[in-house]
Order: sequence, then structure tokens, then C-alpha cells
Amino acid sequence: MKEKLTEEFESIGNMHYSANTNTPLREDAFVKTDDEKVQNIQKHFKAIMEELGLDLTDDSLSGTPYRVAKMYVKELFYGLNPEHKPKLSSFENKYGYGKMLVESNISIDSSCEHHFLPITGFAHVAYIPGERVIGLSKINRLVDYYAHRPQVQERLCLQILKDLQEALNTESVLVMISSKHLCVSSRGIKDKSSYTTTLEYGGEFNDINRRKEFFNCLNQKID
Ligand SMILES: [Zn+2]
Repeated sequence: MKEKLTEEFESIGNMHYSANTNTPLREDAFVKTDDEKVQNIQKHFKAIMEELGLDLTDDSLSGTPYRVAKMYVKELFYGLNPEHKPKLSSFENKYGYGKMLVESNISIDSSCEHHFLPITGFAHVAYIPGERVIGLSKINRLVDYYAHRPQVQERLCLQILKDLQEALNTESVLVMISSKHLCVSSRGIKDKSSYTTTLEYGGEFNDINRRKEFFNCLNQKID
């Protein structure tokens, strides 16, 4: 029975599928303060290291449980907390810009929720404005926010898309992410060269010519 459960978890880890775009969170997710979480995770991580047989009295290892706990709560996973969500204030499209806007090569620094290993790469976001436009850096900030959670790439792509569609009041948004997953390159199949691309869009991007225009923009060299 135990064996079967382990196999099941392994296969879920390879499936990368979720029916809902919300990150599954407990109801009490934000009852404890960040500092309380760091204190508790520190104890748990110390136990993991000890279980692995490491001597925590060694100078080099003694601070690791604290460093890992702080890294999880404050550096890698701050995007779990909606308080850190950037305000996506949009403003009136006064100049009547009506063609495509592309924000490309936005860094992705995320973590896979099945193995807690890094996902690194780039997001490329495009939209065709209607009545509303948005400050450019807001797009980068939104990508940064959702990336800083335990993630699956498909959900990350959809979370960014949905929020932008809502803020811009248009379906015509496209989000593309290309990234490397350390859980694929450093364990399991250990494939060093593959990367994963996800592409989600709506509205005018359902037209293949719009998507071609987007891909042409990505191929422009600025330097
Ligand atoms: Zn993984």
C-alpha cells in the first residue's frame, strides 16, 4: 500500500496538471506571521538534515536551517501572500494606441511545486489594448509575484494571463513562458538541454496572424 502511494505521487509529479488556476492554499495559510513560519521551518529543516546524517554542530552547517527557512518564506515564496500582490492600476488609453504591445524577456525565477527545485527562464507577454493600458513594469511585477510560489508552469502562465485580462478589461492578452526545470535537468531523466514552453492567450490572439506578429516581435534584436 505504502509503495503504491509513493508511485502515485511520483506520477502526479510528472503530470504537471491542475484543473484550477488557484494555488491550493490552506485556509489558515496566513494565520502565523512570517517570523513564526521561519522559526518553525527552521526546526523542521534541522530535523531533515539530521535525518540525512549531517552534524549540525559543524560551523558551516549550523546556520543552514535558518538560512533555508528565511529563503522559503521571504525570498522564494513571498508570492504566496496576496498582500505582496502588485496593484495593477490601469489608465485610460488616451493616445488611442490600438496595436500590439509586447513585453519580452521578463526573467522567471520560480520553483517547481513537485520537487521544490528551481524553474528559470523567461516570460513574454503581449496585449492589444482597448480602453485601458497598464504601466509596463506592472507586467514584470505581476510575473515576479506569481513566480515566487511553488508552481507548475502551466498554472503560472494562466495566473498571469487572467489577472492581466481582468486589469486591462480585454481578452486579447498572450503569455508565453520558456523555462528550464531543474527537476528535469538534475534528477530523474537528467536532461540538460530541454526546456518547456507554455503559451496561453485569448481574444484577438486566437487569430494565427496575431500570434505570428507576436513571434516576429520576439525575434527582433535590439542590441
Ligand atoms: Zn518538478
